[in-house]
Amino acid sequence: MRLSDLQAITHEDLLITRLGPRTVETPLQELLGNRQESVHYVTETDRVLVDDTLGMAKNRGVDAADLPAFNPGGPRRQLFFDPSEVTAAIVTCGGLCPGLNNVIRALVLHLRHAYGCRDVLGFRNGYQGLADGSEPLRLTPDLVRDIHTRGGTILGTSRGSQDPATMIDTLVAHKVNALFVVGGDGTLRGAQMLAAEAARRGLPIAVVGVPKTIDNDIPWIDHSFGFQTAYARAAESIQAAHTEASSGVNGIGLVKLMGRHSGFIAAHATLVAQGVDFTLIPEVPFTLDGLLDGVRKKLANQGHAVVVVAEGAGQDLLPPSTATDPSGNRKLGDIGAFLREQLTEGLSDLPLSLRYIDPGYAIRSVPANAFDAVYCTRLAQAATHAAMAGFTSVMVGSRRGRFINLPIALATATSNHVDPHGDLWMAVLETTGQPLSL
Ligand code: ATP
Ligand code: MG
Repeated sequence: MRLSDLQAITHEDLLITRLGPRTVETPLQELLGNRQESVHYVTETDRVLVDDTLGMAKNRGVDAADLPAFNPGGPRRQLFFDPSEVTAAIVTCGGLCPGLNNVIRALVLHLRHAYGCRDVLGFRNGYQGLADGSEPLRLTPDLVRDIHTRGGTILGTSRGSQDPATMIDTLVAHKVNALFVVGGDGTLRGAQMLAAEAARRGLPIAVVGVPKTIDNDIPWIDHSFGFQTAYARAAESIQAAHTEASSGVNGIGLVKLMGRHSGFIAAHATLVAQGVDFTLIPEVPFTLDGLLDGVRKKLANQGHAVVVVAEGAGQDLLPPSTATDPSGNRKLGDIGAFLREQLTEGLSDLPLSLRYIDPGYAIRSVPANAFDAVYCTRLAQAATHAAMAGFTSVMVGSRRGRFINLPIALATATSNHVDPHGDLWMAVLETTGQPLSL
């Protein structure tokens, strides 16, 4: 009985039975390094907390009120807005990502059906549509009925900066009191400026962010929507590369995946597909000689090699680029094409068959899978609740499985990276068998 009562669980109930003392050094040291190199090993004295809300801790008699804790996502009994007087608006900005239409659809349905909001407007082409005077779409439940079956965004998207004052003028002209922005780090920074401009003018307009980044680089949350769909699609390309490589003489399969600053897609797709021999991500530097040497050994030992490279990996090996996109993001050098060339040249003494696969846009444009569709729906609902409660400059997301509201300023202050000393990268090293450093 006691063990089925979460509140009655004690430290002793959670201890794991041990067969005896541990005296044998792990053979994984070869892969993961020794303790001094600080690649992830579990510290036996650390523990994962059972309670994850202050309320749960308090019920246990522990006063944890001073611990930093997130504002919980979800519906409030008392609202700031009278929903019947709310005109909401939605914009989608930045690059495409699976699930954008799911978010739009769920926002519309939840705002209209659950809260009974007056109207939901869709401004086209990201922030541009809030600044160029174009007429917004009127998003009715009818209009969004089937959109979740399609990739992309029915609202369109754009990059490039717009004047916050002009955008707020547009919201005022359309009597918008809740703006939902769906986008990445740049978009969230824009949302912060919009909320600040509204506050400066004393306008009660809720600005709520639904974080979108296919690279999964938004911090503090478990993952961003579309990420699972993206790495599932990426794994299909790895599978193709593996098939090609293992069927050729000294076959090399080289796959370039998304990941400008964070290698999550490459890492996860590697773990889905297995059969990858080298995974290269922006967080872990490598040398060309190290890679060539590793690939040469693989070819000698197993007859083929599969290399997965995230687009932001190995940028230090390429000529520096100063070009930027319209939003000011630095354009990356093409590491995929570079490695294709270098592998071909560096191993030219061998008969080689190298296949290069760059699934790029094919990954961004697919519809969300069931997992991401669920997440999109729940994010949209959490965002709606946050707006109706009167929160602004706020972003929603799930953290350790719970929905939270967090200040956008917190989310834009850092970004999420694969920790080269963490257990995700450890799992990749265990899977590929690649050396700790190349
Ligand atoms: P992605 O993950 O695809 O890069 P993103 O939201 O970061 O998504 P960006 O193109 O960088 O995409 O930005 C989208 C929009 O946000 C653009 O209209 C851009 O002008 C605006 N924006 C970007 N950075 C800022 C900033 N620092 N302050 C205000 N607005 C910004
Ligand atoms: Mg960005």
